[in-house]
Amino acid sequence: MQQHLFPRSFKTNYLEADYGEGIYIYDKQGKRYLDGCSGALISNLGHCNRDIVTAVEKQFGRLEFAHPSRWHVDIVEEAAAAVAETASGDLDNVWFVSGGSEAVETALKLARQYYVERDGAGSSKHITIGRWNSYHGSTIGTMAVAGSMARRRVFSPLFAESPKIPSTYCYRCHFHKQYPQCGLLCARALEEMIQIIGPQYISSFIAEPIVGSTVGAVVPPDEYWPMVWDICDRYDILLIADEVMTGCGRTGKNFCVDHWDVVPDIIATAKGMAAGYVPTGGIIARNNIVEAIKDGSGAFMHGHTYNGNPMSAAAVAAVFKYMKEHGVVENAAKMGELLGAGLKKIGEESAIIGEVRGKGLMWGFEVVKDKASREPFDKKTAAANVVTKACIEEGLIIYPGGGQIRGTSGDNFMTAPPLIITEIQVKELLEKLKNGIKRAEAALV
Ligand code: PLP
Repeated sequence: MQQHLFPRSFKTNYLEADYGEGIYIYDKQGKRYLDGCSGALISNLGHCNRDIVTAVEKQFGRLEFAHPSRWHVDIVEEAAAAVAETASGDLDNVWFVSGGSEAVETALKLARQYYVERDGAGSSKHITIGRWNSYHGSTIGTMAVAGSMARRRVFSPLFAESPKIPSTYCYRCHFHKQYPQCGLLCARALEEMIQIIGPQYISSFIAEPIVGSTVGAVVPPDEYWPMVWDICDRYDILLIADEVMTGCGRTGKNFCVDHWDVVPDIIATAKGMAAGYVPTGGIIARNNIVEAIKDGSGAFMHGHTYNGNPMSAAAVAAVFKYMKEHGVVENAAKMGELLGAGLKKIGEESAIIGEVRGKGLMWGFEVVKDKASREPFDKKTAAANVVTKACIEEGLIIYPGGGQIRGTSGDNFMTAPPLIITEIQVKELLEKLKNGIKRAEAALV
């Protein structure tokens, strides 16, 4: 039979999903898979949570759509209040969109408009500084500020390029230094870049608090975020935290920047925001930014048909209510300790795991040919596929990265299960992962 769905990859043998229940997805043959990466760090409350389904169903039967340029709908305000309550400082202003890429685009545009409102139409502040080894979305604007080489190659002629600095990645430090003797050159690189370009041309700096999909849960040194916050502040540049993956409780805090007591100017978030129940994303902006627009032109020159969609808002409100009532963020912190400790043990015992890193329920590991020299597997080995498939055979889904850093084959992975995972289920995940790694080792070593 001819297939009409244009698949993302013609080389992938897709699993045939039947239904989901908690942290598991079942295929059509009835095999159960532990969703060890929450899809792509989205399904924070697991699958088919009745509270969320019921809330969305209720909204569906009441009002499914009202155009945001005309209508105010209570549920949207309720959702915004629930999100803002979890963000620190005066990050009080929520703008809803349909996903992570739109959230980042919104943040970039808001940063530019803020300076036009504040300094006048002639403001030269428009450039966003990004980082190598980063991912901010699949649209042309978000790809231009991101530095994932594998994803950029085909499309780079389309980009209005933005300057990039190295991201934090101590295991393969860009500067070939060791922390802490490095003196955080990766943070200082921001100041140097600002001085090269001139702060009068720069509107914002964007970064993922923990680098996610490119290199697999790379956590920066504790000094990094306070340092870049200070640099942005000193040069009058907005700090945008891309918390599309790390936000909404994923790392054991409401937002990942909370680990370092940093209050960015804008947070872009998505994924966990509606936990996969409805396509949703959003930004949370500090008061001075929104006030500049309110007191200036009076309107953010931006908008999509699905901004503040009541269906999405119903899901967001229900997700945040559930998280609060069930201590989900606290559970993520607690279960994250267990998962991290177990993963580190697997790493020590394994011949191919070079590094284990992470926070909360966002853990990553990197497989290498030689642990001592950190030499990666040859690309032809396709180690990432071998490991992914070995885990699938064990009934475990993990997230393969793909950031090919300085000639590495990008064999890094994330395990980031739903935040509702229990202690017994963490043990089950670790057992499956251990067996999957052993299977992969047998094929690779
Ligand atoms: N930003 C980050 C950090 C992400 O991880 C992603 C998606 O993985 C995005 C942005 C893009 O989000 P979406 O796929 O919802 O457009």
